[in-house]
Amino acid sequence: MTRKKAVRELSRFLDPYRVTNGKKFRLKDHDPGDTGGLGSEDKPEARRMLATGIERMTELQERLYASDQWGMLLVFQAMDAAGKDGTIKHVLSGVNPQGCQVHAFKQPSSEEIDHDFLWRNQRAAPERGRIGIFNRSYYEEVLVVRVHPQILARQRIPARLVGKRIWEERLEDIAAYERYLARNGFVLLKFFLNVSRKEQKRRFLERLDEPDKHWKFSAADVRERAHWKSYMAAYEEAIQATATRHAPWYVVPADEKWFTRLVVAAAIVEAMEGLDLEFPKVAEAKREELALARAQLAKE
Ligand code: ATP
Ligand code: MG
Repeated sequence: MTRKKAVRELSRFLDPYRVTNGKKFRLKDHDPGDTGGLGSEDKPEARRMLATGIERMTELQERLYASDQWGMLLVFQAMDAAGKDGTIKHVLSGVNPQGCQVHAFKQPSSEEIDHDFLWRNQRAAPERGRIGIFNRSYYEEVLVVRVHPQILARQRIPARLVGKRIWEERLEDIAAYERYLARNGFVLLKFFLNVSRKEQKRRFLERLDEPDKHWKFSAADVRERAHWKSYMAAYEEAIQATATRHAPWYVVPADEKWFTRLVVAAAIVEAMEGLDLEFPKVAEAKREELALARAQLAKE
């Protein structure tokens, strides 16, 4: 099978998960256990497709870097143990680390709280020619902050600006920011790794059972499970308000890690293919310079 065909084959796993029109989005239409019709007997085939996708991504990334015009921003959001870290590690394993800028967003520092909520994101935004990866992002401002209003209270926003429409307003600001990035040549892909509550429990128990995974376990993560419904409602509204053609959401089934990775890789490759990336053409003067250098080296 040719490389092109293999890449096209990956695309068929994307359509069901891509959301470009938020208005119609309902989370209940998305099954965390979906594997796109593939069964566990297809896992070797899935692994092969993933490897092909990663190879293609590596080639395209070199062109992205060399042409230095487009940038990419990949946003990863999910409940704990949905597999953000593993997905980032596996899917971007082939990409030259120089062309990648990964940033994990934790609870804001006091310096960060002294600013507007997009400030720290903009500072971490990727350069042209690079792929920026946000492990969590400004979306936390309409997720964890929404689920826990005491976090909002600590942000010291003047009281008269905190009204009933605060979440709607934040989502509008996020949508405007994303349109701004898109208009500046930054391709945005947003991934919600959609894990089920049941699978999250299984993974937490696995972490408790394996000493090598204890470092990943946090009692706070288990406490957050109590707010599952509020989180899902917040995710749904966030996706509804911000899924557009220029900044699509991918609601990726996350109960089967091998499938999650396939979908994420496919989305990145498809978006990069769409940029028609080429290596920059070298000008005549430069070619003469290269010929001269070659002649000089040959004389040595
Ligand atoms: P892992 O646990 O796999 O290392 P993680 O992304 O869960 O990765 P943690 O340090 O455990 O990292 O958690 C980061 C925490 O910071 C999360 O609970 C997240 O909700 C919180 N957080 C991120 N951004 C914000 C924000 N803007 N305001 C408040 N809390 C935030
Ligand atoms: Mg955590």
